[in-house]
Amino acid sequence: MALHIPTLLVVSVFVFLLMGLLTLHAWYRETRERPLAYLGCMMLLAALGMLLVSWRGKGVDFIPIVIGNVILLLSAGLNWTAMRVFVGRAPSVPGIVGGAIIWLTLCLIPAFYNAMPARVVAYSLLAFGYGLLTAMELWRSRKSLDVAYTPALLLTLWHTAFYGIRSLIDEGLPLDQSRSGVGDGAHFFSFMLFESMLYVIGIAYMTLAMVKERAERKFKAAALTDPLTGIGNRRAFLQQAEQLLTLGKRRTETAALLLCDLDHFKRLNDTFGHPAGDQALIAFSRVMSNQLRKGDAFGRIGGEEFACLLTGADEQVAVQVAERIREAFSELTILGAGVLSVSIGVVTTRESGYELSRLLSEADEALYGAKDRGRNRVQTLRKLYLSLTDS
Ligand code: GH3
Ligand code: MG
Ligand code: MG
Repeated sequence: MALHIPTLLVVSVFVFLLMGLLTLHAWYRETRERPLAYLGCMMLLAALGMLLVSWRGKGVDFIPIVIGNVILLLSAGLNWTAMRVFVGRAPSVPGIVGGAIIWLTLCLIPAFYNAMPARVVAYSLLAFGYGLLTAMELWRSRKSLDVAYTPALLLTLWHTAFYGIRSLIDEGLPLDQSRSGVGDGAHFFSFMLFESMLYVIGIAYMTLAMVKERAERKFKAAALTDPLTGIGNRRAFLQQAEQLLTLGKRRTETAALLLCDLDHFKRLNDTFGHPAGDQALIAFSRVMSNQLRKGDAFGRIGGEEFACLLTGADEQVAVQVAERIREAFSELTILGAGVLSVSIGVVTTRESGYELSRLLSEADEALYGAKDRGRNRVQTLRKLYLSLTDS
């Protein structure tokens, strides 16, 4: 199939221009994520480079050969930078301009400037190098990337391989073939234009998808995290606890719920100030994280209220864990000795069942028992009922 090269050149300039503007628009309106800004600029430069390269044979060869290719190489540098910034690394200015400088230097050599095959090989190798750098950015950060990066990596590898092959087999397109669109070189050149359009459309879409996926993850994490202590919030706790209870019920495993409420917290705020109260909340969340196992769910479910769901724990284990938390917190001296204390209500699925709302309300009853009995203590619901029937 013979594709008409001048038409393809015009189409590619407009495709690059449109994709560049759309990508910059996405950057400006939606995310302000820098990879999109670099990618948008890369596409606008590609449009300009293509426009200049298409000026071949108009009597100003300096413009397509030197300036056009310099701009296309800067564009390849920005493509690499977009991925580099996406994986969290700083842009490298020497890296971005390196390809263009090599090209300018080579163009100072008349034998190179006048030899089309040498220019094609050099340009292809430089584009191949930038492609490799781009793919390497994604590959070396693959373990820390929390988004689907494989499509972008595969597309970049394909684009890179294309320039690798071109450096080996393409000898350049004589001017008459470029104009007529027929001849040995014309097929390769038209295929290259076609490939670069597909690459630009593909990489824009994939980068946008990766940026959005990452932003969504960030928002999701923020929606589940308590900003003060950094632990899960009420929503996160309820979600996780529900899941653990469903699993525990299926396995007929006992689970225990600990409801913790810091004692006299209003007084503590009034005496030491709100920032000191915040420090106490952070300290308590640390104590809790240190005392719990990885599989347990815990979170800050209210102002100075925290909850933990211990899996595979009966009342005895739950009380031991609760006592450890209570003791460790009461031993903290950040606001002076004996200032901090917590009361903890404990229930287990054995007496309260696997429904979270019931576990929470019965743990609340036990907690109020602990408050009534003088605070800084652990109270199980079972013992609370026993003591109530005794008296
Ligand atoms: P009790 O021992 O009965 O639990 O008494 P309390 O003072 O701890 O209970 P109360 O519910 O009366 O007061 C809770 C206080 O917790 C009131 C509120 O100002 C404080 N608080 C809630 N959220 C925060 C927070 O994010 N930071 C700080 N510093 N204080 C908070
Ligand atoms: Mg409270
Ligand atoms: Mg309290």
